Amino acid sequence: MSGLGAKHKSASIRLIYVSRAKGPQTTTVTTSILLQAQVHNKVHGITGVLCQGQGFFIQVLEGERSPVNALYRRICSDLRHSDVELLRYEDIAERKFSQWSMALVKLSVDDPMVKVQHPEFDPYSASGDQVMHLLANLIQTAQPITAPTP
Ligand code: FAD
Repeated sequence: MSGLGAKHKSASIRLIYVSRAKGPQTTTVTTSILLQAQVHNKVHGITGVLCQGQGFFIQVLEGERSPVNALYRRICSDLRHSDVELLRYEDIAERKFSQWSMALVKLSVDDPMVKVQHPEFDPYSASGDQVMHLLANLIQTAQPITAPTP
């Protein structure tokens, strides 16, 4: 059925942003974000990865456009970080991180992959492609952490 009254499923998109953490990136802060993500993202069919370290957050959100946009607006006004900058926003045919409502990977300058493969890595000047590549590598080499069950 189509027409003005019909409810349409919106297209799937992938959104990537970088931000600066306000204050230290403690386990308490991370766990609270992961718990919120686990509950909310599951309900709204959002999946993705949150990368944290070196004072930065990098997050990939995948899902239907409307709920992802709404979540991004909330995240932008979250006081636990600042300088939120959109790195990529694209239509997707399939998700890359469909298995997690939100997984956490840690970014460290001592990480050999960051040192050797991305010595100049600065998330604010990196392209969306470079960030996706880095995250894909981190997912494979680091042990992703998912939120504890509430
Ligand atoms: P409320 O819970 O009503 O909170 C209102 C505001 O209070 C928030 O915007 C935030 O600024 C602040 N706040 C909320 N909880 C805390 C806390 N424990 N400590 C300090 N301040 C707090 N949420 C998701 O659902 N999915 C995600 O994938 C996700 N990723 C995030 C990634 C990052 C880097 C950050 C910083 C936050 C993320 N969040 C995520 C949390 C999101 O920003 C909202 O806080 C959350 O969705 C709850 O929204 P709300 O409008 O119900 O806010």
